[in-house]
Amino acid sequence: MLKITKVANKGLYMNNAFNSSNLDYLTKRYKKEYLKAWNLVNERGVKKYIFVPSGVERWIVKGRKKNYVVLPGIFCQCEDFYISVVIKRKKQTCYHLLAQMIAEETKKYEEIELKDECYSKVLCKLTCTLN
Ligand SMILES: [Zn+2]
Repeated sequence: MLKITKVANKGLYMNNAFNSSNLDYLTKRYKKEYLKAWNLVNERGVKKYIFVPSGVERWIVKGRKKNYVVLPGIFCQCEDFYISVVIKRKKQTCYHLLAQMIAEETKKYEEIELKDECYSKVLCKLTCTLN
């Protein structure tokens, strides 16, 4: 599965940069999703958790109902990613993955450092239903 989605996202990550030319590309290609992603970034909906001393990093992106773990350029936990990207292959990405990429490139994300022993508890708490 990882291989498939990596290939699907090739277009998105070509040149591995977020410059003005691929900003145009992203805007045209993803339209509504791109705007949703951009809004999410501006609302500080993207966070990077770093666990120490292991150095393990986890990107967490805020969704409508819950938060999702995102593996940059590869995977998102959301239903849209699973159905539209992996199963139906109708889209190349979900807006959480786009938001993570924009946040990382524009440095608009919150970085939170936590101890390794908190890993399971924190990830579970962060990604459970928000109500
Ligand atoms: Zn997603």
